[in-house]
Amino acid sequence: MRITVLGSGTNIHPTRAASGYLVRTDHTILLDFGPRTLANLLKTGMNRHRITHILFSHYHADHFSDFITYFFDAMIFTKYQGGTRPPLTVIGPRGTKKFFQALFTTLPGFTHAPFAVHFKEVSDRAFTIGKTTVIPRTVTHTQNLHCLGYRIEYGGKALAYSGDSQYCDSLVRLCGDVDLAVLDCSFPASRPSPVHLHAGQCGQVAREAGVGRLVLSHLYPVTDRYNVREQAGEAFGGKIVVARDLMTIKL
Ligand SMILES: [Zn+2]
Ligand SMILES: [Zn+2]
Repeated sequence: MRITVLGSGTNIHPTRAASGYLVRTDHTILLDFGPRTLANLLKTGMNRHRITHILFSHYHADHFSDFITYFFDAMIFTKYQGGTRPPLTVIGPRGTKKFFQALFTTLPGFTHAPFAVHFKEVSDRAFTIGKTTVIPRTVTHTQNLHCLGYRIEYGGKALAYSGDSQYCDSLVRLCGDVDLAVLDCSFPASRPSPVHLHAGQCGQVAREAGVGRLVLSHLYPVTDRYNVREQAGEAFGGKIVVARDLMTIKL
């Protein structure tokens, strides 16, 4: 299994794209699809039309907005450019079907794509995509919004992605003994937010969950001015990586 960081920043950031990750197992899967991650997906050189599953953590724009551009392009590719692509399955938290129904009936042409599109709402129950096991888990982010983290298992390895999350027991369980955890490190420990983890809490989650490697991501611009690796390292003695766009990590 390989994970490529398509975006390690947030909505508006001068050098980092917002949230998005390309996961390669026996399938090609995207975790979130925030602004500027599509441009980074093109830079990887992979065929974007081979993506079969997109897993959304929640629908804050910094995790979602490039989907619109991606889907519009997929329609033009299959309708007018003689292209073919496999069915696309969009998976996300509660509200996913309603959200996409509103979007697809509003955006011109979106309900007439010449390829199959499936929408699936998931909660805290494992499912499989081919030989890949996906375990979604509800995490706590903002009030009244269903947000998911995802654990992906393939070939004897496991990775966890927090989505956006506060510190919560559910996140620690999601990350239990994974080889790699990609966590929401929006802020440095000295400038915490009520709805995101800070670097110190990322270290705490990694230690409590027994994570192999910790990747700090979803960095706000201010966070780049602090040594978040050191802050996370106060709680966690394992390997810590500060995410960079387009870095690929093999598990
Ligand atoms: Zn969010
Ligand atoms: Zn976010």
